[in-house]
Amino acid sequence: MSNKTASEIYLEKLQSDFYEDGYTHKIYGTDYNIKNILKDYIPTFNKKSKNIYPEECFNKLKEILDNDNLPTVYEDPAQYYILLNLFEKIEMSAEEISSNLPRRPVVGTLPSGEVNAMAIKVPDSDDFLLVFEDQIFTFANLIAKVVAQSIPFEIKDNVISFSMGKEEVNNYFKNNSIAFERFKELIYAYLFYGEPTAAPQYFLEGIPMHLADRLRTSLELFIVGHEYSHIILGHVQESKTMVNKAKRIEFNEIIFNWDQEFSADVLGLRLMLGCMLKEGSINLPSFVGADLFFGSLDVIEKSISILKTGSVTNTIHRTHPPTLLRREILRKSINEIFGNSKDGIKMAKGVLMYAETLEYILNLLWDSITPFLYSAYKKGYKLDSRWLCFL
Ligand SMILES: [Zn+2]
Repeated sequence: MSNKTASEIYLEKLQSDFYEDGYTHKIYGTDYNIKNILKDYIPTFNKKSKNIYPEECFNKLKEILDNDNLPTVYEDPAQYYILLNLFEKIEMSAEEISSNLPRRPVVGTLPSGEVNAMAIKVPDSDDFLLVFEDQIFTFANLIAKVVAQSIPFEIKDNVISFSMGKEEVNNYFKNNSIAFERFKELIYAYLFYGEPTAAPQYFLEGIPMHLADRLRTSLELFIVGHEYSHIILGHVQESKTMVNKAKRIEFNEIIFNWDQEFSADVLGLRLMLGCMLKEGSINLPSFVGADLFFGSLDVIEKSISILKTGSVTNTIHRTHPPTLLRREILRKSINEIFGNSKDGIKMAKGVLMYAETLEYILNLLWDSITPFLYSAYKKGYKLDSRWLCFL
């Protein structure tokens, strides 16, 4: 541990404190050897593929483990691998906007129940940590799968078209009610077990599988793009800290004001779009991950509110502006981002229609689980401890 930085040592202490509180967790960075890591994780990257050990994943994970590159012994190598990949992509996208990019801080995860990431000040230093909810990327993957199997599509002359009408969505759901089950299982697994993967596993194929991949990628890139935007825009230096008490653990969280949050959302969207353009697969789902992030976050917040208070009134976020206001402001920025060219205007219109269709789908899914949530509240079901961190 001697070669760890002060930030990494502090992150490890926070993780140790969080996990100690009745939270069992493997210690990855010490005796958890590479054979176990590969056995546990590699298949989950590409289960459906015949190639069970894709070389790229293998090499990257091996590099992280061989070089003691995990920031702490508690950091899950698979989650860290995803985080590093996302940061690398976002930084490449940011290089096209600015040549003088700030240094990446130490990044890691905590079971914080804070679906927005947190910037945490390292004591006695000017450094800070960027800490992500430790299940956020798993949740992103699974919510993208649920939504992807809810969007009607047809293939004509080898061209795929997705339907954007409410009536088409309603008809599609009539013959495809499995998405409601998947949604309920996912939300229940995250809320009550703290692990989205506690929901039964399933695989998508064909068009919905590709659609889920695009939605997940853009959603994940937006989450990291938003946090990185706070750094590029110099918000961290400008902002105050607030002493936070999660369970019995105290730390200084950097609190951004609403204007800073909105501008990090807009720049985060631009950075995400830059990445998606680089990947070369430009279609509407590539753009709407940011919108889906807010829609899903809203679902989590409303669910927690019902389970804590018996109503959806208490959904104002602890540190960020209201989620749906962020979504509204982001949608307003779409026209400006795509510009005034004929193609730009057409694209912006398509993106907004697509986003509204996703919103409609999420609303239908939400309506389908509310009776269960109210009943769970009445029966006194207990939320996973991560959702009670900041009470
Ligand atoms: Zn933020």
